[in-house]
Amino acid sequence: ATPTAIMVGTGLGAGRGALFKNAAALETSAGIHTVVMDKTGTLTKGEPEVTDVITTQEPGEDALLRLVTAVERESEHPLAEAVVRHAEDRAVVAPSAGGFENVPGHGATAVVEGHRVAVGNRRLAEREGVDLGPLAARREELAATGRTVVIVCVDGRAAGLIGIADAPRETSAAAVRELHGLGVEVVMLTGDNRATAERIARRLGIDTVIAEVLPRDKAARIAELQRGDRKVAMVGDGVNDAPALAQADLGIAIGAGTDVAIETADLVLMRSDPLDVPTALRIGRGTLRKMR
Ligand code: ADP
Ligand code: MG
Repeated sequence: ATPTAIMVGTGLGAGRGALFKNAAALETSAGIHTVVMDKTGTLTKGEPEVTDVITTQEPGEDALLRLVTAVERESEHPLAEAVVRHAEDRAVVAPSAGGFENVPGHGATAVVEGHRVAVGNRRLAEREGVDLGPLAARREELAATGRTVVIVCVDGRAAGLIGIADAPRETSAAAVRELHGLGVEVVMLTGDNRATAERIARRLGIDTVIAEVLPRDKAARIAELQRGDRKVAMVGDGVNDAPALAQADLGIAIGAGTDVAIETADLVLMRSDPLDVPTALRIGRGTLRKMR
């Protein structure tokens, strides 16, 4: 594109809070075939809230929450923060935890009052050698409603489930529709479980879901989508997303994201509005047209 077209395109983007890092980013955005979107914090608000606390055993929900909160207080994961906030709302006071360990893409473990407590997804329960028993059906029901389900294991046994909901952003469905209108394929990429992800994807009109992806595997999944010289944009917000943003032809950081994501990205969307993704691609296309 000509320097003038680049300047105009960059200016148009800036007016919408879409900051292209350089001319190459603007040009690349014109030729994108596939937009991959992280689920949590990108398509959803990233403000998870506890909706269900389920326990099969005495002495009940608050006792379960005490143990879970002791572990999650040590974690910086958004799900952990939701649990801690919920416990505070219920005036549940948690004891301190020892030997805290974060297990990326799985959850976390610690020792609380002499008990080994593990909180996380099904993969973590498997690692702990825990059979969900009667909780398996409850877990599936919750996931089918689009909730993220945290499994609580105490001393190698399934002790309960915590259902967490994270509402889609108001404009996520419209953004998907606009991208489809531009002839762009939309893919959801997430570490969350398949049933949860598919439910939310269906609600947003997304037909391709890549779920249960470990943080370290996100970049490799982007590379697979790039086969056949397809140009792929990745939209993400988290530290976990940085390698995938770097792998993508166009890395897009959504505004409220972490510094790492913003540094790695080619395009930063300051307003955290998914609709700015199709807008940015249209600006790129307009810029390239002007050079011909
Ligand atoms: P994403 O943010 O895309 O969901 P993560 O890799 O951060 O990906 O997490 C993957 C999954 O691991 C989460 O969906 C959740 O099921 C589980 N998980 C990770 N950390 C925690 C935690 N501290 N507490 C409960 N579950 C967790
Ligand atoms: Mg995330």
